[in-house]
Amino acid sequence: RLYNEVQDLKGNIRVYCRIRPFLPGQSKKQTTIEYIGENGELVVSNPSKQGKDTHRLFKFNKVFSPAATQEEVFLDTQPLIRSVLDGYNVCIFAYGQTGSGKTYTMSGPNVSSKEDWGVNYRALNDLFQISQSRKSSTIYEVGVQMVEIYNEQVRDLLVGDSSHRRLGIWSTTQPNGLAVPEASMHSVKSTTDVLELMNIGLMNRAVGATALNERSSRSHSVLTVHVRGTDLKTNAVLRGSLHLVDLAGSERVDRSEATGDRLREAQHINKSLSALGDVIFALAQKNAHVPYRNSKLTQVLQSSLGGQAKTLMFVQLNPDVESYSETISTLKFAERVS
Ligand code: ADP
Ligand code: MG
Repeated sequence: RLYNEVQDLKGNIRVYCRIRPFLPGQSKKQTTIEYIGENGELVVSNPSKQGKDTHRLFKFNKVFSPAATQEEVFLDTQPLIRSVLDGYNVCIFAYGQTGSGKTYTMSGPNVSSKEDWGVNYRALNDLFQISQSRKSSTIYEVGVQMVEIYNEQVRDLLVGDSSHRRLGIWSTTQPNGLAVPEASMHSVKSTTDVLELMNIGLMNRAVGATALNERSSRSHSVLTVHVRGTDLKTNAVLRGSLHLVDLAGSERVDRSEATGDRLREAQHINKSLSALGDVIFALAQKNAHVPYRNSKLTQVLQSSLGGQAKTLMFVQLNPDVESYSETISTLKFAERVS
């Protein structure tokens, strides 16, 4: 059942749209979301504009309304995550402007409450549960790495002392090769281990920034879960990996306003997000050439994009009318790759 589900994916790329609710204090009248269909249809409009041709229809594998819970979102992600234990490479990432709910979907707003847990924690928790249930036949070992890509530089988020060391990327054309072999690898045995590590990662991500949100919105964070399963009878070894990516905010920066560091950051983000779009577009088109080498992000993710790998993109939307133009540009990015 699992295999059928996974193989049904068109070109192994699946796109889910998630709309975040209005936050307390935001006016509920000014929404751009007109309609959410059962089969992944989404209609957006700009309520402040009059006239015709103001409504646009988009189609996804699934649309999660603002009422969708973390658990509901995870249930539709679970089969993909479980395929990692069967030796698949999987990449799940969240795309959208700052404030659209990327971190909410991937990590959740509050780690201390299980209900709030995002995809990251639920995925690892699920992997531990399944591996426990298979322990009479297969022994699974799980290791995690967590890096940040900022201004086209890769940094280990799980070590304190070398936080400013730039890491090199290796080609992962080798089967089971590590894309960032210098990033520390941490063996994890329980969800508690994972929670501790991710806290370190989050703290390191804040280093050098005036506010956590500032920096985190301008860098990509990549959590990589490596799974190695050994069959107890045959000693055969199976490897799978899972990349969980909280991308930098996709908002366009006004060139006339941004200068210096801010402009440089914006250019790097722009470059890496378009490189990601180009790679997924090439894969969806089944092009012979896939341009992985155009950004650090696509190089780090290469093993889980293309080939037998499964890719899931969360397209995150802020329903606020003020976000209308960013919403359209996010939806256009998604439309191109789906
Ligand atoms: P991003 O990471 O894209 O910048 P966040 O995940 O930080 O956005 O979300 C922005 C704000 O919206 C946060 O306060 C977050 O808790 C809230 N939020 C996002 N998605 C949801 C959701 N589905 N339900 C409730 N609150 C949400
Ligand atoms: Mg965020």
